[in-house]
Amino acid sequence: MVNAVELVEVSARDGLQNEPELLSTEQKLELVARSVTAGLKRMEVASFVNPKKVPQMADAAEVMAGLPKDDDVTYIALALNRRGFERAAESGAKEVNFVLAASDAFAMRNSGAPMLGLVDTLTEVTALAGAAGIRVSATISVAFGCPFEGEVPARTVNDLVRRAADAGVFEVALADTIGVGVPSQVRDLFGKAQASAPNAQLRAHFHNTRNTALANALAAYECGVKVIDGSLAGIGGCPFAPGAAGNVPTEDLVYLFERMGVSTGVDLPRAIDTAKFIGAALGKVTPGMVSKAGGFPSRG
Ligand code: MG
Repeated sequence: MVNAVELVEVSARDGLQNEPELLSTEQKLELVARSVTAGLKRMEVASFVNPKKVPQMADAAEVMAGLPKDDDVTYIALALNRRGFERAAESGAKEVNFVLAASDAFAMRNSGAPMLGLVDTLTEVTALAGAAGIRVSATISVAFGCPFEGEVPARTVNDLVRRAADAGVFEVALADTIGVGVPSQVRDLFGKAQASAPNAQLRAHFHNTRNTALANALAAYECGVKVIDGSLAGIGGCPFAPGAAGNVPTEDLVYLFERMGVSTGVDLPRAIDTAKFIGAALGKVTPGMVSKAGGFPSRG
């Protein structure tokens, strides 16, 4: 048995979307190209949302048009509604991630529709996508806790997992959008998801708001989740979690897993270089730790 984990790079989308410093299309494409060179094979690169609400994603179509052509790399575009899916499809996206939410309050604030209304849209989207040869994954945001409703019942998350699988997605991600989850909760929610959607690939998305993201990622891996999101340099806040640290840093995940003998396919020094590129482009000190300390043993 090969010990391996697939890291999905989200810096160009989730990472950047809350950064006040707007990067140019060229800088975003350089970030993507550097990520590919570091060995990342699947990445979120754009979100087809209202540019008035998310100015950093206003050039989503231009980013999609300028991506490095590489048959080994899968680029993911995000959609919150049918119009977003249609724009993603028009941009040539081959994989679309559709965002659900595990509370009505968050669903309304983030997507302008109630929880189950989003599931109905997902069902429409998977039908359209199937006809267009696009594969669709679903992310269940605020699965570990909601900034408006507080604790989210596990049965609500699990019901959404089942509904998303029934809608025909190939993968379901559980997202700790505001970074409140802990490892026991990770084991509980993913264990239930494995039981109720045995044919769906599961993916984990963690934010390091309360310093639990790396522990949660390891817990997810140890209970059988083989796809984990990361954001180089650890960038990525959440508009509903003010002051929050970002996504779990990709290079910190690479260090942890590779040193445990779990293959990520990612070259740590190149990942660190890319994390430093992000910090320089944004003009700030980024939260990731391995990019500051370096790997071990050092390669000289
Ligand atoms: Mg996120």
